[in-house]
Amino acid sequence: MKKKLFALLMSAAAAHVSAQVTDAMIANDAADESSVLSWGMGTQGQRYSALDSVNTKTVKNLVPVWSMSFGGEKQRGQESQPLVYKGKMFVTASYSRIFAVDVKTGEKIWKYEHRLPEGIMPCCDVVNRGAALYDNLVIFGTLDAQIVALDQDTGKVVWREKIDDYAAGYSYTAAPLIADGLLMTGLSGGEFGVVGRVEARDPKTGKLVWTRPVVEGHMGYKDGKENGISGTTNATWPGEMWKTGGASPWLGGTYDAKTGLAYFGTGNPGPWNAHVRKGDNLYSAATVAIDPKTGKIVWHYQNTPNDAWDFDGVNEFITFDMDGKRVGGKADRNGFFYVNDAATGKLINAFPFVKGNTWAKSIDIATGRPNFVPENRPGDPNASADGKKGSAVFAAPGFLGGKNQQPMAYSPKSKMFYVPTNEWGMDIWNEPITYKKGGAYLGAGFTIKPLNNDYIGSLRAFDPKTGKMAWEIKNNAPLWGGVLATAGDLVFWGTPEGYLKAADAKTGKVLWQFQTGSGVVAPPITWKQDGEQYISVVSGWGGAVPLWGGEVAKKVNFLEQGGSVWTFKLPKS
Ligand code: CA
Repeated sequence: MKKKLFALLMSAAAAHVSAQVTDAMIANDAADESSVLSWGMGTQGQRYSALDSVNTKTVKNLVPVWSMSFGGEKQRGQESQPLVYKGKMFVTASYSRIFAVDVKTGEKIWKYEHRLPEGIMPCCDVVNRGAALYDNLVIFGTLDAQIVALDQDTGKVVWREKIDDYAAGYSYTAAPLIADGLLMTGLSGGEFGVVGRVEARDPKTGKLVWTRPVVEGHMGYKDGKENGISGTTNATWPGEMWKTGGASPWLGGTYDAKTGLAYFGTGNPGPWNAHVRKGDNLYSAATVAIDPKTGKIVWHYQNTPNDAWDFDGVNEFITFDMDGKRVGGKADRNGFFYVNDAATGKLINAFPFVKGNTWAKSIDIATGRPNFVPENRPGDPNASADGKKGSAVFAAPGFLGGKNQQPMAYSPKSKMFYVPTNEWGMDIWNEPITYKKGGAYLGAGFTIKPLNNDYIGSLRAFDPKTGKMAWEIKNNAPLWGGVLATAGDLVFWGTPEGYLKAADAKTGKVLWQFQTGSGVVAPPITWKQDGEQYISVVSGWGGAVPLWGGEVAKKVNFLEQGGSVWTFKLPKS
């Protein structure tokens, strides 16, 4: 009896110290309106909320409640999705920073600034896309390829683990995925000839459970023991090329409890020059479904075999129900939208979601392979007179993609995907290249160019079953933030011009907008606090466009940097 009472008292004390995030709560994240526990607002990544007090009729009254600055001299791109739990918001910022904020007042509770070494090599700005919550921890990755777990209440470091060597080009920018009791991470570095892999850790301790390479030929490990080679060595890679094959899964993964699978998209094969790696180059530019229990690849679907355009296939695979079947939708960087069976990977539908794709005419649904346009592949440098530069081609989409890191949303209410798209192309040519540790491993030159005079970005609503576009909202600058869909028949998204906007999900009519003071390149969230619906978004222009955007970068070089998080709600009536 005494023992029982003591245990009861102890558990009550523990609950008082820290309200713990459990596996069950994460599994229920999409349905729980009072918190946002994961990147994607639920492990399926639908970015949909059943909240509807902010709706097509009331959204015009939406006003800011507070804004908090990330401060410091360091700004650059802010691509983070905040998390909300028990009165606290956890939001990451550029240069591997994380803040805990009072959700009601915007007051800073604590800040952690990761000490970054000289010589980090993030390819595409010093961004971070968000954290993960587990137990009393908030966990995020850093630009020097580490994972840090902090106490939610104090911001003190509880554990810290290294993913890999930043001097070899490894970094980390995604939000970790927690599902099935495991913390799952990919890595960045596909432009430096790294070896892409997904890893699973015990979220409480950081201890490595399994690692699964996503370049064919490499050995996987589980509990410190060999766990089988991914694929068959040299089946799709010539010679030694698989040893520096890239395929970094650098965006967050998703998980579906119904299939029991975690889905990670993989980046470009290394180097960009495809002539030196003839073959499909598995599992680059693909969706890879991994069983978290075994650490093995259950299925893969390659969006761009033998990629020659830097068409990273990292985009989020969002599972949903279609015709009574669990399927997944993915708007790939290569300009095609894919629907695959979530349990088997079988291709069900594929259609272009941007105009003017040059590299493939269509995707063959029966074989699952693209119908390539061979003359639109950049030429082999070895076929040129001096062997130094292959013939240049104009390719669309450009390597920044029909869609890039900005996550789309799916509404189970409207059965539509809301996709932040961009239409642009590039001149691209190949050059000879050899691997050097820590050096850019491209073998390509390029210039990004706009395709249209009046817009680059366009928010588009697609029916995944028919491939038909219901509406679009064009935007002058490229869209680089994500989308939120709600039961209030609204979609929210941000623009580099600084606006957070809301549109009618049925018609695409813009109903509300607010100027945040810098470009929005991050996805909005919504949750319920004390009976009221709140909406938050991070503001701060940057990311890959100003660094790599060629002629487009010049077009948008008037945009100002920043770093803040904004929160909105309806006034109390
Ligand atoms: Ca890439």
